[in-house]
Amino acid sequence: MRAYTQRRSILKGIRKRFSKRGVILMYHSIAATQADPWCITVTPQNFADHLKVLQQFGKPISLTDFAHGMARGELPQRAIALTFDDGYANNLEVAKPLLEQYDIPATVFVASGYLDQNREFWWDELAQLLLTPGLLPAQLALEVNGHTQKWHLGAAQTYTEAMAQQDSCCLVESAEPGSRLALYGQLWQALLHLPFAMRQQTLDALWVWADRSPQVRSAYRPLRSDELLPLEQSGHVSVGGHTVTHSMLSRLSTEEQFQEIYQCKVDLEVKLGHVIHSFAYPFGNYSPTTVPCVAEAGFSHACSTIVDTAWSRYDAYQLPRFEAQNWSGPELVRRLRRLFW
Ligand SMILES: [Zn+2]
Repeated sequence: MRAYTQRRSILKGIRKRFSKRGVILMYHSIAATQADPWCITVTPQNFADHLKVLQQFGKPISLTDFAHGMARGELPQRAIALTFDDGYANNLEVAKPLLEQYDIPATVFVASGYLDQNREFWWDELAQLLLTPGLLPAQLALEVNGHTQKWHLGAAQTYTEAMAQQDSCCLVESAEPGSRLALYGQLWQALLHLPFAMRQQTLDALWVWADRSPQVRSAYRPLRSDELLPLEQSGHVSVGGHTVTHSMLSRLSTEEQFQEIYQCKVDLEVKLGHVIHSFAYPFGNYSPTTVPCVAEAGFSHACSTIVDTAWSRYDAYQLPRFEAQNWSGPELVRRLRRLFW
């Protein structure tokens, strides 16, 4: 049995080695921000350097062309597709002019429920509340899903400029226990699994607890619906779907999943005046029932967060991606060399 498995794995490796492979890169926000506990923000300078590298090193193509080429086993040599998740306004203000300058196409996946809400994405709002310098109450009691959870903040009650500076390039997974960043991680987990309305209520309760009001900061602002057409105007950017509320799809019933996926498509198509084809799973999270919902809603392909090069083994509704981080140009070259062998 083991020999059989080994043989299959070797054969798969050989098939992959000689298949036409490409890379789909996943970006989120292009900005010079301070709090970035998930390291999802790339500075405009590094992003410009990435585009220069991609133009020299690869063959940037649209995600739709990429999905079609992959399905037919006809991906161009070193094909690369760029994607942006969530729908940050800086994709229009900062990324789009650079994409035009380097003549590189990209797809921006938009969570339609955040358009015109005049609120930041919930994970950014939570970071605004916890990871900006200031003093918080000593204790927190939060009702989550009918259970009261309690936190004693201890040292995390205080948060200084120096701490914020230190955390600006620190992943939440490596937070020191008892730190403000660790508290952010715990509350993020608590909010992640809540239904949308309950999550917003819980966030509101947190602002009351902190005795502060949420702001919409320009570097973290979600797109408005009147910015979707300008985003696509030059033909470099295509809008794709990313659900309505950016929830964990696997936690929802099949009907709720379909509603999230289909309604997002309808919302975006009404605003854009044309059909959209691409979808990305929020948090890369989905269950076996999600994929048929995406197809049934009318999307022709979907991006996951499976970390791999894309080749004919992958089906069009589970395209793998690599998360691009705030690397320098030379660092991106090193990583692409490894991917393309
Ligand atoms: Zn997302």
